Amino acid sequence: MPSYYVDRRPQANGHHQVHAQGCPYLPLYRLHLGDFVHGAAALREAQRHYAPAAACRHCGGENLR
Ligand SMILES: [Zn+2]
Repeated sequence: MPSYYVDRRPQANGHHQVHAQGCPYLPLYRLHLGDFVHGAAALREAQRHYAPAAACRHCGGENLR
């Protein structure tokens, strides 16, 4: 079960990106969301802290939608 993180800093479009552990784009300034079977649950958790939140295109992809 992978750990997920959300970037504390928003992207240019205002979204906070959600990353899975091991992503090469994992930001330094991040919040640990927890371990989730499905990325969608991680995204929901991220949105409790930061909204809007969006899946990282590199590690999340379709799994987080
Ligand atoms: Zn990522």
